[in-house]
Amino acid sequence: MITPRIEIDLEKIAHNAKTLINLYGSKGIHLIAVTKAVRGNPRIARTLVNCGIDILADSRIENIKRMRGAGVQAQFLLTRTPALSQAEAVVKYADISLNTEFSVIERLSAHAIEYDKSHKIILMLELGDLREGLMPSDLDDMVKQVSKMEGINLAGIGANLACFGGVIPDDENMGKLSSIANDIENKHGLKLEYVSGGNSANYNWFMSTQDVGRVNNLRLGESIYLGCETVSRKPIPGLHTDAMTLVSEIVESKIKPSLPYGTIAQDAFGNTPKFVDQGQIRRAILGIGLQDVQVSGLTPRVDIEIIGASSDHLIVNAKDLELSVGNELEFDLNYAALLSAMSSRHVNKVSSDRVNAHEYCERVEKNYRRHLQLQPGISIKEDHSPMHNLNESGFNLMFEPSSQPGYKFMVREAVYEKIGRISKRLDMEDKTLWLRSAWRSFEHQRLLWQERVAQLQIEYPKKELEEIEELVSYFIAPPSKSMHATGGAVDALIYDLKQNAIMRFGTNDGFKITLNDKCYPYHPYITPEAKNNRKLLIGLFEAEDFVVDLKEYWHFDYGNVSWAIDKGKDQAIYGVI
Ligand SMILES: *Cc1c(COP(=O)(O)O)cnc(C)c1O
Repeated sequence: MITPRIEIDLEKIAHNAKTLINLYGSKGIHLIAVTKAVRGNPRIARTLVNCGIDILADSRIENIKRMRGAGVQAQFLLTRTPALSQAEAVVKYADISLNTEFSVIERLSAHAIEYDKSHKIILMLELGDLREGLMPSDLDDMVKQVSKMEGINLAGIGANLACFGGVIPDDENMGKLSSIANDIENKHGLKLEYVSGGNSANYNWFMSTQDVGRVNNLRLGESIYLGCETVSRKPIPGLHTDAMTLVSEIVESKIKPSLPYGTIAQDAFGNTPKFVDQGQIRRAILGIGLQDVQVSGLTPRVDIEIIGASSDHLIVNAKDLELSVGNELEFDLNYAALLSAMSSRHVNKVSSDRVNAHEYCERVEKNYRRHLQLQPGISIKEDHSPMHNLNESGFNLMFEPSSQPGYKFMVREAVYEKIGRISKRLDMEDKTLWLRSAWRSFEHQRLLWQERVAQLQIEYPKKELEEIEELVSYFIAPPSKSMHATGGAVDALIYDLKQNAIMRFGTNDGFKITLNDKCYPYHPYITPEAKNNRKLLIGLFEAEDFVVDLKEYWHFDYGNVSWAIDKGKDQAIYGVI
C-alpha cells in the first residue's frame, strides 16, 4: 500500500469517544468533539456522530464545509475566534461560534438577519491562559449588548486553558467560570445553555474535583484521538492510545558511520548539527520528512532511534533491527504530528478498523480451509469444451510478460467468450483488461511454486523449508491443487488508458503485487480508491458468472471446482486439462 500513510482506526476512536461520553456524562458534562486535528475527516466525523456526539467543532470553516459536504449530520461549531472578513461564511456554515469581539458579533448579526438564521454564540472568557477571551470585567457590558442583538442567540460562556500559557484547569478557575455564569444569569435574567469549561486538559480537574459546578460542557479533541489528557500527556485509563498510526517505508538501509565526515557547516535548515560518535551503525532512511509530518512528534513502535530529518527524509539508527528497503515502520504521533500529518496532502489517509480487518481475515481463512475440505467431494462432469488462445483473439487485452518463455493465455471456450464481453465493456471506459495468467500446466505451476520458495528462503534464511512452504501455500496453490490447470481460471487487473497505468488495487504497484492479507478481495484496510477499483474488477467478472478467489482479488474462476464450491453446486464442468 502507498506510503507514507496515516492509518485511522475508527473502531478505537469510537471506543474512546463512547468511554469519554460516559465518563464526563456521569457528572452531567456534555461533550463537543473537536475535529481540527483530523482536518474534519468525514469518516471520523461520522464515527463520532454515531457514538452520540451532536456537535462537531473545528477551527476552520473549510473543514466544517468538508464535513457538511460529506453529509455529516451534526451541528457545527467554529472554535477559532472568527475573523471579521469571515463573518458571512461563519453564519452560512457554522451553527455556533466562540466569540470575544463586539465588532465581529455585530457583523455575525447582520449576516444572520440577511440569511434569516439564528446564530448561536458562546462568549469566551480569559481565565489566565492568555489566548482568546474577554477579560471577566468586560463581560457584563458585552452580554448587555449582544443579548438583544437580532439574529444572535447568546448560548453560553466558555473558557479555554492549557493551550497557550499552559495554565491548568483547576477548582479555582473553573469555580470562577461557574460563579460568573450564575452572576450573568441573575443579572440579565437569562439562561445559559452552555458553560463550556475547556478541552482535553480538563481531565485531571474533572477526576479530582468534588463539584463540577455549572460546567456542563467540554470540547475534546486530543483525548478522543490519542487517548491521553493534555496536562502531562498521561494515557487516560481505558482509552486506546494507538488509534492513529503513521506508516512509512524504508528507502535506504546501509551500514554507515554515525558521524558525518568532511567540514561541517549548516544543514538544510540553517542549523549546525551535532552528532555523537557511535561507530558504524545501520542507518535506514524512511521516505517521509518535514513536508509530511512534524517529525519531532513521532515515536517509533519498534526499538530504533530517530537521528534526524530533512524535508523528505527521516534518518534512523536501526540498532539491532534487520531493516531492509520496502519494510514498513509504524509510529505513534503526538498532537502536533497528528495535526501536521492529517493536514499534509502528501500523507495518505486510510481509515478502517483493525478489529474488523482481523475478523474479516479470520473469516476468509476459515472459509478457505472449508473450501479445501470440500474440494475432494466435488465431482467433475467434464464438458470437454476446447481451449482457445486469448493472445490471438483480437479482443482489446493486455498481457503481462510471463516468466515462462512463449507462454500463451489459453482458456476454455466459454471463458474465452466471457473475456471478450468484459473486454468490450472496458473499451467503453477507456480501460483494458490486463491479463496476468490463464491456463497453467502442472510444470508451470511447479516452477512458480519453486520460484516463490526460493524467494522466501532468501528473505527468511532462518526458516525451515516446511515453514516456507506453508507461507507459499498461503497464496500459490501446490501444483496438484491449482485451478489454473483447468482452463477455467484467469488472473486479471485493469489498465487505465487515460492514466496510462494499471489501476491501484491496494497491494499493487503496476503489475507487481505484494502478497499479504490485504489481497483478500474485501479487506477493509485499503484506500477508498482501491476499494472502488476492486469493485469494478470483481463486478465485471461476477456479471459473467465468475467467482472471485477467496484470497486474491485478481483471480477469477469459472466452471472448475472452486467455482462449483462457491456457487454451492456439487458438480464442476472443467477438470484438469
Ligand atoms: C483545539 C481546541 C479545543 C480542543 O482541544 P484538545 O486539546 O484537542 O481537546 C477546544 N477548544 C478550543 C477553543 C480549541 O481551540
